[in-house]
Parts: sequence; C-alpha cells; structure tokens
Amino acid sequence: MQEAQDLRARLQTAEQALADLRAEVERNDAKMHRTQQRELRLLHSEDLQTLLHELIDGIQRNHGLQQVTVVLCDPNHDIRHLLLAAGTPAENFDGLLMVESLTGLAPQYVALRQPWLGAFAACDHQLIFPGVSNLASVAMIPLTHRRRLIGSLNLGSDDKKRFTREHSADFLAHLGVIASYCIDNTINRARLLRSGFTDVLTGWHNRRYLQVRLHEELARARRDQAHIACLILDVDHFKSVNDTYGHAAGDHVLQEIANRVDAQVRKSDVAARYGGEEFVVLLPDTPIDAAVTLAERIRGAVSSAPYEMPGGPTREITASIGIAGITPDEDADDLKTLGEALIAHADVALYEAKSAGRNRVAVDGGP
Ligand code: GH3
Ligand code: MG
Ligand code: MG
Repeated sequence: MQEAQDLRARLQTAEQALADLRAEVERNDAKMHRTQQRELRLLHSEDLQTLLHELIDGIQRNHGLQQVTVVLCDPNHDIRHLLLAAGTPAENFDGLLMVESLTGLAPQYVALRQPWLGAFAACDHQLIFPGVSNLASVAMIPLTHRRRLIGSLNLGSDDKKRFTREHSADFLAHLGVIASYCIDNTINRARLLRSGFTDVLTGWHNRRYLQVRLHEELARARRDQAHIACLILDVDHFKSVNDTYGHAAGDHVLQEIANRVDAQVRKSDVAARYGGEEFVVLLPDTPIDAAVTLAERIRGAVSSAPYEMPGGPTREITASIGIAGITPDEDADDLKTLGEALIAHADVALYEAKSAGRNRVAVDGGP
C-alpha cells in the first residue's frame, strides 16, 4: 500500500518535472523565434535610420523592456552628419546618444568585450539611461567596428532578475555581433550614397541623384495621378562674376545662392545642382500656380541682398527660373524619356525668362 503511494507520488513528481521541462522548452523556442525575427529585421534594415529604430523601439517592444538606448561614439561627427543628410537628425531618436568619447560615460566601457549584465546603479548607468530611475537590472552589449569598441546597446528592465551576472549572455553577445555588423553596413551605405550623389561645392544633391529621384517621383505621380512641377534656376550673367572677381569668388557666390534657395524649398521637394550655375527643384504633388509662387519666393531670396565679394565690394545677383509641370498618364511607360521631356520644357521656359530680360519666372505648358 505504502509502496503504491510512494510510486504514485514519484510519478506525479516526474510528470510535473516533465511538464516544467516542456514549458521551458516552449519558452525557449518562443524566445529563439522572437530573437531570430528581430535579427532578421535588423539585417533587413536598409538605412541607418531604420536600423536605429529597429534597435531602440523594436527591441524594447519585442522583449518587453522598460528602456533601450544606443550609445555611439562619433568623434568626427560623421554619423551625425549622415543622419542629418538623410533628413533624420540624431536628436530625433529618443534613446540614441552620440558621444565624442566613451570615457567617463559608464565604468563598464573600460573593458566591455562581452555583454555586461548586472544590477542597475544610478551612479554608473545614469548617463547611458538619461533621466531614468525605475530600472533594476541592465545589460550593456558592446558594439564594435573593426574589433574596436564604438558604443553599446543598452537594455534596461525593472525586473532585478532579468539581467544578472549568473545569466548566460550568449544570446545577447550574438545580438551584439549582428547589431555591430548592421551599423557598419548601413553607415558604409550612407557614405557611398552620399559620395555618389552629392555635389561637393554646395553639399546639394547632384544631377545623378536628380535623375534617380525624378524617375521615382514620376512613378509616384503616375500611381497617384498627381501633378509634379519642375523648376530650373539659372544665375544671370554669372560668367561676368567669374570674369570680374575670379573663380573662387564665383564658387563662393554659388554656395551662397544654394543656401538662399535651400531656405525656401520644402523638405518634400527634391533640390539638386544640375550643372555649373543651374539648379533644379522638383515639386511633387504641386500644381503650377503653387510652383510659380515658390519660384517667385526663390527668385526674391536670390536677389534679396547683394553678395560680398573678396576684398570688400558687393554685387547684386539675380536669377531666372523656368517652370514646367506634368501629371503622367496612367499608361505612361517610358518614365526616363518623360523625365527628360519635363526638364527640357522647364529649360524652354528658362530660355523665355532670359530672353524677356532675366530676373523673372516663366512657365511652359509641359510635355
Ligand atoms: P546668362 O544670364 O545667360 O545665364 O549668362 P551667364 O553668364 O550666367 O551664362 P553662361 O552659361 O554663359 O555662363 C555660366 C558660367 O558659369 C560659365 C562657367 O564658367 C561658370 N561656372 C560653371 N560652373 C562653375 C563653378 O562651379 N564655379 C564657378 N566659379 N563658375 C562656374
Ligand atoms: Mg547656364
Ligand atoms: Mg547663367
């Protein structure tokens, strides 16, 4: 009798142990699945801004954490400028900290080769989790570039058992390797894009970039049956600036003109230096009358104040602007030719503005 009872009790214990084991396997499976999904999303991030969003908000949501931050050491302001150029300044990312040096930020950076897991200590971690006090445990995952520490991915939990020194850090180390690789990749990509599509003198996009974007914007306009307007600006009598003051002064004037035009265009517009003293602005989703208004504003800004020349004298400078617009047919299939035609028509209008006496805006009917 007693034996049977013992046996039943042992069986019950064994069954319970099996159930616990099964539950743990399921939990681990789910965790691995979540982790794999997260890593895939990181690997699929095509640009730095998407990647940062995935790292900070994605991981926080995915792993139910109170706080996630990314610290990146950016001593040459390189990464900051790339983000700025992409239209997503570093300040826009809650949880992203750009620093010039890791020294003094948190004591763990002195020897952060593997993820550091442990209790949250305000004195040690307040700089990597700014303004946060409700954490109990943290994980600092090193981010490296060519084996050099460039920062960390920091996970914060209000559960003191979530990240402890006894935990295995393998899965976090793996996440760190993937994140480092992705950061490297997207930074290189942003650099490459910028070097190939940027005009060195003005920092504006160049003609190649315009061609790519023109194609994209025409495709979008065709899909949405929207009107797209194109402005071409050409500086009046620019040759005489060069002839009178030299090419360096001419360069300086071009930079100043680019700044003045830039201050007028909207974020959604595509502005590019098209050639020597010619600039193009594409205005997606903009009717002709609105394009004329913007062109007049740009023309006014260019001539609003005289330009300072080397050695003291100032010079009045004006520009002429040609405009053309189009709503692409739904069945238009040759967008490359359509783009060329749009620019050619804006160029015709520009020629009219020049012939009519310069410092004015003219409109062409469009292709
Ligand atoms: P118009 O009013 O008819 O446009 O007269 P313009 O003198 O501006 O016309 P033109 O096209 O004959 O001259 C443009 C000049 O711009 C000639 C070229 O040397 C100069 N230019 C082109 N690119 C640059 C540049 O990057 N720097 C400088 N300094 N000059 C440039
Ligand atoms: Mg010209
Ligand atoms: Mg000119």
